[in-house]
Amino acid sequence: MTPMPRANDTGISAHPAAAPPSAPVACERCGSAFACGMNDTVPCWCTALPALPREQLTQAMRQTDGQVYAGCLCPPCLSAVVAAAARG
Ligand SMILES: [Zn+2]
Repeated sequence: MTPMPRANDTGISAHPAAAPPSAPVACERCGSAFACGMNDTVPCWCTALPALPREQLTQAMRQTDGQVYAGCLCPPCLSAVVAAAARG
């Protein structure tokens, strides 16, 4: 009797493939590369910025064509957006 071959018997990690921590991403606003800490074990730098009500932040994130930035913004851009939103 032949044992069934076991494809997963080679020590392959059960964790799904994920982006490496702090992989550079392109800013949605200016296109410059920066590191997003969303996948890091420590909180992203963006959590240090003042939190705004979602509606207010969405308003500030709205582009001239009405689209809202879907991705992350680099530190300077996010600071500018937050500052603009804080002003109202
Ligand atoms: Zn930017």
